[in-house]
Amino acid sequence: MTDYLVKAIDKTKNLRLLTITAKGVVSEAQKLQDTWSASSAVLGRTLVGGLLLAGAQLTDKEELTVRLLGNGPVGPTVVTAKADLTVKGYIKNPHIALPPKKNGHIDVKKAVGQGWFEVTKDLGLKEPYTGQVPIVSGEIAEDFAYYLTKSEQIPSAVGLSVFVNPNNSIGEAGGFMLQALPGASDELINKTIKRINALPALSTSFLDGMTPEDLARKILGTDCKILEKQDVAYKCDCSKEKYAKILETLDTKQLKDMINEDHGAELTCAFCGNKYSFNEDELKDILAKKKAEKD
Ligand code: ZN
Repeated sequence: MTDYLVKAIDKTKNLRLLTITAKGVVSEAQKLQDTWSASSAVLGRTLVGGLLLAGAQLTDKEELTVRLLGNGPVGPTVVTAKADLTVKGYIKNPHIALPPKKNGHIDVKKAVGQGWFEVTKDLGLKEPYTGQVPIVSGEIAEDFAYYLTKSEQIPSAVGLSVFVNPNNSIGEAGGFMLQALPGASDELINKTIKRINALPALSTSFLDGMTPEDLARKILGTDCKILEKQDVAYKCDCSKEKYAKILETLDTKQLKDMINEDHGAELTCAFCGNKYSFNEDELKDILAKKKAEKD
């Protein structure tokens, strides 16, 4: 099954729902960064959540970055998703596996730890917008919901799931993001929350072949309307030009050391593993450009 996201609305048009299946996206990240189970779950859930948020909020060339800045063993996790529903992500410590919880699930909360959940949106304005909330759960789905409710005043419910096979490959990945529009009555919200709480574990359902459309009907009712279906993909947008710009932000001294001592530089993209090398002359050009921009 290919990866895709579905947008749906309930019969009363007061509840907006996005559902997604993204095994391919999380598998790609798992292979690129060789993540172990806990790291895969943290990075995977953040990738799925980032795609759902992008699907809910972005248009045109907009993009957003989710930063999960916890003090747990996996370290910071960064995910950037675009309006075209491509996504890339990075986790500081890919080789984390923890003893399972009593119910057999991966201990994502422990892997993440305490800290901050941050979303930066680049909406093509002069300054990107950043909203930050404390990590309230560490299970990530609840943190997305808390961020939306608290920082953006959009009452939300979020479910995220990643199943990791014993050989570290990804068995399934998917989730949903429900948003209550201003006209939603308490009764409608409560009824829908009850349906969500009664759902079987998302990972089991996805493994059993549940589609995003099936999940939408389970949450909003069979009379809901599927509005849109969009492909999603893991895609890094790095380039040598982008890395040249990053080098330009270094201190003059650091650049000079690279030129005089290392005689070049090799940078590896944390999101996709691509390597970019700069020889002495290229570094000198970057240094000259930096000086020119300063003057
Ligand atoms: Zn890259």
